[in-house]
Amino acid sequence: MKFAESVERVRAERPALEFGTGVFDYAPAPEATDHVRLASRYGLFIGGEFVEPKSGRFLDTVNPATEEKLAEVAEGGEADVAAAVAAARAAFRSWSRLPGAERGKYVYRIARLIQEKARELAIVETMDGGKPIKEARDVDIPLAAAHFFHHAGWADKLAYAFPGRAPRPLGVCGQIIPWNFPLLMAAWKLAPALACGNTVVLKPAETTPLTALQLAGILREAELPPGVVNVVTGAGETGAHLVNHPDVAKIAFTGSTEVGKLIQRALAGTGKRLTLELGGKAANIVFADAALDQAVEGIVNGIYFNQGHVCCAGSRLLVEESIAEDLLARLEWRIRQLRVGDPLDKNTDVGAINSRAQLDKIRELTRCGVEEGAELHQSDCTLPARGYFFPPTWFTNVAQSHRIAREEIFGPVLAVMTFRTPDEAVEKANNLAYGLSAGVWTDKGAKIFAMTRRLRAGVVWANTFNKFDPTSPFGGYKESGFGREGGRHGLEAYLELA
Ligand code: ADP
Repeated sequence: MKFAESVERVRAERPALEFGTGVFDYAPAPEATDHVRLASRYGLFIGGEFVEPKSGRFLDTVNPATEEKLAEVAEGGEADVAAAVAAARAAFRSWSRLPGAERGKYVYRIARLIQEKARELAIVETMDGGKPIKEARDVDIPLAAAHFFHHAGWADKLAYAFPGRAPRPLGVCGQIIPWNFPLLMAAWKLAPALACGNTVVLKPAETTPLTALQLAGILREAELPPGVVNVVTGAGETGAHLVNHPDVAKIAFTGSTEVGKLIQRALAGTGKRLTLELGGKAANIVFADAALDQAVEGIVNGIYFNQGHVCCAGSRLLVEESIAEDLLARLEWRIRQLRVGDPLDKNTDVGAINSRAQLDKIRELTRCGVEEGAELHQSDCTLPARGYFFPPTWFTNVAQSHRIAREEIFGPVLAVMTFRTPDEAVEKANNLAYGLSAGVWTDKGAKIFAMTRRLRAGVVWANTFNKFDPTSPFGGYKESGFGREGGRHGLEAYLELA
């Protein structure tokens, strides 16, 4: 059957909901923001207090859905980073000696406070970063709390996690996080570091600093001893000062492969520990025997969740040739039902692109896809007049050599390719410098195991996608980085094991 006929058949079978045409529409359901209190200006959180930056510099943080300024945050300079590291170093002495059960109580208290303030945290996350409120509310914030809960339980059981070894904390950890899951990435990094008895200087991303600063307030409320966690906002330069500070024992970085390589070079020969969680270009592999509608949901979640700003996004769809037309017809119908727009609206599926710079990058790579000969498809949704938005996009006729098939776009853009045999699927999936995640969709359990064993990716989901849990280690192969976060493996990254 021709693709056009498949599309006709799917459309005839499924009533189009035709949002925005007046035929069928949702009433606006905006989340209220009037109870959220943002300061107009934030200092640095050092030694348990918010302090003015010695640098005297501030950066604006903007709501990407409206382009309005939300607040000013300090841009930490070298002296600010030094002050934060000194505070963390001073705190290390007593924090590292505290019995594990006592440390665990603080970590547990942080988890409870995140739960208590979940609504406000979700709203601020959405305003600062552009993600749909339903994702911030149902994924980011509950998972952030879950990471603290999970690690609270480890604090007094480290000796059991590594029997026969003598686990000891490392010292001051510098943690640099990205803008796609701001609070969640802070939780991924802080919770294990604290449970293991380390102290921390955290550097949030420049476009999304607000929930980390709210978290600093929570740490104070939890009466975490001053200096155990310090938050130094700023951009890349601030991060570089942290990387280069001689009293930092370990750097944990999540971000682009490009910056990860810079950091690895900077640390060579210093003896500092390093974990890197970098880019990805995951293959989501759909076999002919898969439950196709279920797979469509997984493909949509894989690439349009969080506007595709996900390092483990399923940005390459590999579909078995015999079902490609049917699957793509179902997929196109589903993508057209996605509601794109105001991230604070509870019915929004796809929110705003995080920044102007990221929107430009997505546009450039999309243009490149067309120029290289792939076929562009986009949802015909109406985009808001203001703010940084990009429609859900997918490309067919993609060749392995195209930039859109090789480079991380970090946006709502899917590259579709086909395969005929499992070997070909494995070959195509692995034939990249990245290896963070992958997905396999099939009805056959044996095929799942046969495929997952051969895929060079840190996480492989089967008949699902983008599932996260603090008990499950997450991390990459090859240029996607090294080291694991979550589970027992994640603890190891924050311990000296004699
Ligand atoms: P992205 O490309 O997704 O914006 P980046 O790797 O540029 O990711 O940013 C991730 C984090 O790394 C951010 O907190 C950013 O400020 C920080 N960063 C950027 N450049 C450097 C650098 N040279 N050294 C240390 N940190 C950096």
